[in-house]
Amino acid sequence: MNEANPESAKAIEDAYQQLKSSAESAGYQLNPDIDFTIELIKRLLVNENRYGYSACPCRLASGVKADDLDIICPCDYRDPDLAEYDACYCGLYVSQSVVAGKKAIAPIPERRPPVAQRKNAVPLKTGISSSDRLPVWRCKVCGYLCARGEPPELCPICKAKKERFELFPL
Ligand code: SF4
Repeated sequence: MNEANPESAKAIEDAYQQLKSSAESAGYQLNPDIDFTIELIKRLLVNENRYGYSACPCRLASGVKADDLDIICPCDYRDPDLAEYDACYCGLYVSQSVVAGKKAIAPIPERRPPVAQRKNAVPLKTGISSSDRLPVWRCKVCGYLCARGEPPELCPICKAKKERFELFPL
């Protein structure tokens, strides 16, 4: 997102085009309801202006970046919510099925753990048990690797589709 005045129509349009382009090039889709999407982008710009980072427009940010890293858009919860509910928590990102009109967005439960649980989370550097580890997916076309619950819809490097990914043994 850019740092322009969030009130400016040009800043909003630029932010929309920039987000749409980067989303699509990485295999993601923005909500096709343009008015709804623009409203979320306005709120992202307001948050960026207020906090110095684009905190999720649907969650209460603390104002402390280190405590909000998981909800800087796109948040840590986008991909699992897309896989399970066809949309992120705010509905800014949606699945291809929603874009195609085959599915509707339903209310999405909050996946972000409560603050106490987040504070007690074991830092990655001190080790993570193998049962907590995300699976690693490999694009069979270009070799791109990513660790996430599901393979991406589209490889961000070579644009191969989801079905061209395989589990990468660790
Ligand atoms: S829920 Fe959607 S809009 Fe909110 S931070 Fe996550 S990806 Fe961005």
